[in-house]
Amino acid sequence: MDNNCLFCRIVAGEIPATVVHETDTTLAFRDIDPKAAVHVLVIPKAHHADVVALAQDDPAGSAALLAACAAVAEGEGLRADGFRVLFNTGGYAGQEVFHVHAHVLGGEPLGPMLAIR
Ligand code: 5GP
Ligand code: ZN
Repeated sequence: MDNNCLFCRIVAGEIPATVVHETDTTLAFRDIDPKAAVHVLVIPKAHHADVVALAQDDPAGSAALLAACAAVAEGEGLRADGFRVLFNTGGYAGQEVFHVHAHVLGGEPLGPMLAIR
């Protein structure tokens, strides 16, 4: 655990979150500032800064995170109409929290993939 990391502190229960799914190695909770009708963040409980670090350091954890995203999509009823999973990574993507997290977005039409196109 990184005491300076917001999402490590959510995993530790030090900061409240609305949890929608949990496994031994993953946690999923609602984004505090949702960008769609459904906006869930899915994280590994272990600290990895971004998706590259996770993929390189913990392949099994990467698979577990993807499986958790799928479970969240099913649990939130997103499968039939479709949804989006994204990882903001680094400066150009505007990553704000450096504990890897998948955004699972859906519940309404999501528009174009990127605002700049
Ligand atoms: P990023 O920009 O790093 O990809 O996404 C960080 C996300 O974390 C943002 O969508 C932001 O709304 C969300 N967030 C920031 N602080 C908190 C918090 O304390 N609780 C929850 N649930 N989400 C947060
Ligand atoms: Zn962390």
